[in-house]
Amino acid sequence: MNFQDVKNKDTQFIAPTYNRFAVAISKGVGSTFTDVEGKKYIDFTSGIGVNAFGVNDEIWKNAVIEQIDSVQHACNLYYTLPQVRLAELLCEKSGAKKVFFGNSGAEANECAIKVARKYSALKYGDEKRYEIITLKNSFHGRTLATLTATGQDNFHKYFGPFLEGFVYAEPNFESVKERVTDKTCAVMLELIQGESGVNVLDKNFVTDLEKYCKEKDVLLIVDEVQTGNGRTGSVYAFQNFEIQPDILTTAKGLGGGLPIGACLLFDKTETVFSFGDHGTTYGGNPVACAGAVSVIERLTDELMEEVRQKGEYIRKKIAEFPAVESVDGMGLMIGIKLKGEKTSREVAEECLKNGLLVLTAHEKVRLLPPLNITKREIDEGLKVLEGVLK
Ligand SMILES: *Cc1c(COP(=O)(O)O)cnc(C)c1O
Repeated sequence: MNFQDVKNKDTQFIAPTYNRFAVAISKGVGSTFTDVEGKKYIDFTSGIGVNAFGVNDEIWKNAVIEQIDSVQHACNLYYTLPQVRLAELLCEKSGAKKVFFGNSGAEANECAIKVARKYSALKYGDEKRYEIITLKNSFHGRTLATLTATGQDNFHKYFGPFLEGFVYAEPNFESVKERVTDKTCAVMLELIQGESGVNVLDKNFVTDLEKYCKEKDVLLIVDEVQTGNGRTGSVYAFQNFEIQPDILTTAKGLGGGLPIGACLLFDKTETVFSFGDHGTTYGGNPVACAGAVSVIERLTDELMEEVRQKGEYIRKKIAEFPAVESVDGMGLMIGIKLKGEKTSREVAEECLKNGLLVLTAHEKVRLLPPLNITKREIDEGLKVLEGVLK
């Protein structure tokens, strides 16, 4: 099938919820994709931060295939080795005490919301301390609860009634503090807001907030669905901000390409759940977990240093392009603010035509290249971007 055939079938049979770019991906190696017509693309997206080690990566592939050869699914009534191994690794790398596995970022956040509400219900003896404060311009997922948590008005149409108990604050300390009441059980935030433009939160705001939350026994939920698993140059972004979350959610890069989400519970929250409180059929699937184990095992100090250096290199180069207003981000999570002749969507479409995949995040161009992208691929991609931004 050529591209037009694929597109026609998509239009005919798939619910039109995605504003797709004009390319049908067929295969790839590393950070280079090939489309159905044989054209090659440098990948600065990792499939929105999912393909942590690119495509067709030998180590990841072998880990997954080995598990498929053993057992592909066992359900959560039984123990499996990849699931316990992954949980152990995640706890080692993050300092968490317990893990709950789901299948996506939204599910990880649903889990976090339930844990936060039960924590308060157990400790404060009623069901009234249930409010969660989230930030303007946040993105937490597409289920009804996580849509409600998402602090953007344009997500709050058509699907009401939305959940009770979410309050939105500006991303500054005073605004959050003003909204904390005796009904507040948690604050939930992304340390770098991904979907809305790679907005890095101010470090002082985050540390002040952490301290205040502790005083008030308000749980701090850090949504690391996008920032997690090495993306920012440390295994989890909270480690760059030197704070301690009470709950951490992650997904995207964790599975290296297979669907998995995790909700990590720290000292205050590790004992909140008991039998029957939560569950999912697929959560912690052994194949997804085996892939994830291979991803997390590779997030060494050396690799994290490499991610930081590659990120700095890319940001420095891009900052010199004349059409660029500023470059934000951390590690290999990069947001480019344009001077305004072209929209981010137009830039992404032109990059695509010239063999480079990039993402948008509101008015910014967003880059999330695979963690193991090569210098050659980086330079090739930057050359395309430079040409497009001329
Ligand atoms: C992508 C994302 C989600 C939602 O994850 P899904 O796997 O699409 O459900 C939640 N939070 C953040 C910060 C994200 O980037």
